[in-house]
Amino acid sequence: MQDLYLNKTMSEDIDKDRKISRLEKRLAREKKARKEAETLLEGKSREIYALNEQLHEDARLLEAAVINANDAIVITTADLENNGPKIVYVNGAFSKISGYDAEEIIGKTPRILQGEDTSREVLDALKTSLSKGRSFQGELKNYTKDGVPYWLDISVVPVKDKRGNITHFAAIERNITERKSFEEELREEKEKAESANIAKSEFLANMSHELRTPLNGIIGMTEFILDSNLSPDQRDNAEILHGSSQNLLSLLNDILDISKIEAGELEIENVPFHIGIAAQQVVQLFLPIANDKGLALTLDRDEKVPSTVIGDYSRIQQVLRNLISNAIKFTEKGSVTVFLKTAFEKEEPYLFIAVKDTGIGIAENKKDAIFEKFTQADTSVTREFGGTGLGLAITQQLINMMGGKIGVDSVEGQGSTFWFTVPLSTADEDMEPVNLLDKDKSYDTEEIRKNIRILAVDDHPVNQVFIIKLLKKLGFSYVDLAHDGQEALDMIDANSYDVVLMDCQMPVLDGYHATTILREKEQGTDRHLPVIALTANAMIGDREKCLKAGMDDYVSKPVKADKIIEAIQKQISNKTTNDASPTPEKEKLEPPVDMKHFETFTDGDPEEEKELLDLFFKQTELSIGELEESCTDDKSEDWQRAAHRMKGAAANLGANMLAKACAEAEQNYEDNQSFKENMLAKIKTRLDALQAFFHSRGYHQGTNERRV
Ligand code: ADP
Repeated sequence: MQDLYLNKTMSEDIDKDRKISRLEKRLAREKKARKEAETLLEGKSREIYALNEQLHEDARLLEAAVINANDAIVITTADLENNGPKIVYVNGAFSKISGYDAEEIIGKTPRILQGEDTSREVLDALKTSLSKGRSFQGELKNYTKDGVPYWLDISVVPVKDKRGNITHFAAIERNITERKSFEEELREEKEKAESANIAKSEFLANMSHELRTPLNGIIGMTEFILDSNLSPDQRDNAEILHGSSQNLLSLLNDILDISKIEAGELEIENVPFHIGIAAQQVVQLFLPIANDKGLALTLDRDEKVPSTVIGDYSRIQQVLRNLISNAIKFTEKGSVTVFLKTAFEKEEPYLFIAVKDTGIGIAENKKDAIFEKFTQADTSVTREFGGTGLGLAITQQLINMMGGKIGVDSVEGQGSTFWFTVPLSTADEDMEPVNLLDKDKSYDTEEIRKNIRILAVDDHPVNQVFIIKLLKKLGFSYVDLAHDGQEALDMIDANSYDVVLMDCQMPVLDGYHATTILREKEQGTDRHLPVIALTANAMIGDREKCLKAGMDDYVSKPVKADKIIEAIQKQISNKTTNDASPTPEKEKLEPPVDMKHFETFTDGDPEEEKELLDLFFKQTELSIGELEESCTDDKSEDWQRAAHRMKGAAANLGANMLAKACAEAEQNYEDNQSFKENMLAKIKTRLDALQAFFHSRGYHQGTNERRV
């Protein structure tokens, strides 16, 4: 029994022990878990702490950067509606620039920083960008608290929250006032310089007229003197005079050209022209000078060069003239060769022209400088050869404008090769080159010159004498003179001319305007009276101005005999080839009397005819006497009356050409003596024509037996 009891207690003890051990195990497990949890927690909280520290540190750095930035920083609310954004933060730089302390401006709208000169457009653009959630960058004028304007380069970015809603705008503003005023100053300086340059160019254009007019007289008259019988001594003197005035003229031309180029008043033409002929013409021009120096001057043209190209024919000739003239000038013996080739650069074709000489050459260190204005390689050489140092500067500018390049290869003492290129465009087959040699050279005979009716228009007395003398000398016998554009138009209305030689700058109405008016009058008719500009303004680019005004050609003063003949010839042959029918002007000239009208008086009865004519010619003789007497007065009623009477008589008879001339004389009775003398000459010519006409019909004045 006791055993049983013992057994029972024993087993109970064993159970208890097991339980305890289980519990202990559980406890240990739980302890371990807690320990682990605690460690984990400790780690996490350390992490959070560190994170927090980091955030603080970042914020501190950002804040320091914002506070101390040199650029102003402004943060506003993102309220674009209502009263617009409100300022919530500004940094120190902002206060420094604007003069507003943070406390003064926080809560206010940025609009108080704007003023009357703040650009509306920039503000609108800013608003548009921000309303679309985009950032903005621009330049804006703001005003300080004291109202002083300052310029800002401003960048504004929208600031978004986690959900992407825009809560604020942050602006970074840089003060660019100094840069702006510098820019402004530069702009003003530039404008000043530009207007000074224009004034300079205008001054030069005027000076050109003033200087070239007397020079025209000097050169022209010297040429007349040289043409006359002179003793050898006189001839020497006149030749020196001629040479010096020519030098003066070319110097003047160079200065004018360069100033025009620099004022940007030069346009480059693009016309089809025959490059071979253009080059050959320049070579031809220099052959006599080269011959005199014993130099061979030749043109070497590559066959591959197309014959007709498109470009500025007169500029290319001008460049070539400069280079050949220099080559001859700086070469004592040997040769000057002009090469004409084509080449390619980056697959673009261009024209390559070179002038090679065997002359003095150019030192390596002078090769760049010679293209500058007024620079010459060697002043001692220049003293020997003359020159201004402008030629190559002009040449280089012209080539640049044509889109080409220029350069020189040279060995001192052996010679130089000046070369240039211009982009090459080949003309279509149907394009006719503008510089084809005159097909109708043979057209011009002395006989024809006699019949060409020329109106010369010039206001300057020396030029008037000169041009009339020159034309007469060249065999043109029918030359009228007008003193200004208006007079020219009147004379063109009243008479019939084949060609007009028109001065450009004149009082009352200048040559450009007169030509434009003439062309307007001709519109709708098939008339086209050729007008050749004769002008002292031979600056580069004036040709275009003349052509724009409606003139057909251009001859620069001092007028050269061959140039004027060439120009007139060209116009006349154009006219004869262009006009299928006789020109209206020609019809206008004949007959001197409208016979139909005349016969209404005479019924074709010769007796009646004679009686009427006798009376008419007697009367006109009296009128002519009166006109002769009164033509010395500037304003003359006698002149007016005589012209009026004669006009009536002529119109009655049907002598319309004469009547027109008388009407013109009558109208201009206030004009000066030289005009009246011209008018008188014209009236007499018409009267002669009338007499000659009736003479050819068998009329003889004053031999009528019936008259007592
Ligand atoms: P200019 O001939 O009127 O002095 P340019 O501008 O035409 O002015 O030429 C400038 C200078 O370049 C000349 O004075 C001369 O020293 C030099 N030069 C030009 N062409 C040649 C050449 N073919 N050979 C030698 N020197 C030259």
